[in-house]
Amino acid sequence: MKISDIYNNKKQTLSFEIFPPKKESGLENIDETLSVLAELNPDFISVTFGAGGGTGSKRTLELARKIKEEYKVEPVVHLTCLTYDKKQIDELAKELQSEGIENILALRGDITPELTPAGDFAHASDLISYLKKEYDFCFLGACYPECHAESADMIDEIKHLRTKVDAGAEVLLSQLFFANEIFYNFSEKCKIAGIDVPVVPGIMPVINASQIKRMVSMCNASFPARFKRIIDKYEDNKEALFDAGMSYALTQIIDLLVSDIPGIHLYTMNNPKVARRICEGIKNIV
Ligand code: FAD
Repeated sequence: MKISDIYNNKKQTLSFEIFPPKKESGLENIDETLSVLAELNPDFISVTFGAGGGTGSKRTLELARKIKEEYKVEPVVHLTCLTYDKKQIDELAKELQSEGIENILALRGDITPELTPAGDFAHASDLISYLKKEYDFCFLGACYPECHAESADMIDEIKHLRTKVDAGAEVLLSQLFFANEIFYNFSEKCKIAGIDVPVVPGIMPVINASQIKRMVSMCNASFPARFKRIIDKYEDNKEALFDAGMSYALTQIIDLLVSDIPGIHLYTMNNPKVARRICEGIKNIV
């Protein structure tokens, strides 16, 4: 099923993001996570993609196949284009097509010194425009309520986001953020710019202080004082941080759900306890 149809037919969605396990041992250990996630009845599960390609892309595809075939949940495959040329992208697209994958989160990928750009795709919108000519996928795109680190300002950000939507992105999934006002302001700016596709907030419940500090700096997200107080107080107490992190995320989610947002995309970090606790907190709402 195309993800755009889910948003057209449903009031508010719930979706999860997971990543392929890094170990070479394969995907066996992911089953515990997937069985819990599937039980929670998400509208889709998205699977991240290693920006450098290689075996990472294989594991993404295997996991997406597993989600679809064994767990009967619609997968969304993340696909980064920076290091691929057109021929390699065609090969990947054909493989996805032959597996019955219908949805791609089209991404550029981070520019890092270790990766050599192939030169065919400078931006996610180029990937969408290219694939749209040949293939019948539903394309999703990423968006950044606090601006992508490379954008000069919010005007630049929104202008390029509009290009991505004009190229064919039918749903936008947001980067994590910890203050809902930031997302509401961003959504409003998207509407003013004529971006009329669902803009879905991405929420990351915090369970690990050092991990979140690293992610926040990588993602260009800000730390509201209320959130920072929780991290500072409980960073050395795992159980307390879990409770406080879930409570903070649930407060964010409920505030978003009562506002006019199309759904919630939950960054699960492959942790079934996180997904279960969040779903328990909203079971009579979504
Ligand atoms: P783009 O949309 O190309 O934007 C990148 C920058 O270029 C922005 O500053 C934008 O404003 C600017 N820009 C865009 N178009 C133009 C244009 N035409 N002219 C000039 N400037 C332009 N990374 C992974 O490696 N694997 C993943 O699985 C993954 N999943 C993600 C999921 C989500 C929901 C999000 C929000 C991010 C994810 N990322 C992932 C990270 C992403 O790859 C990086 O943030 C990357 O730096 C940008 O990717 P993008 O697709 O947003 O790029």
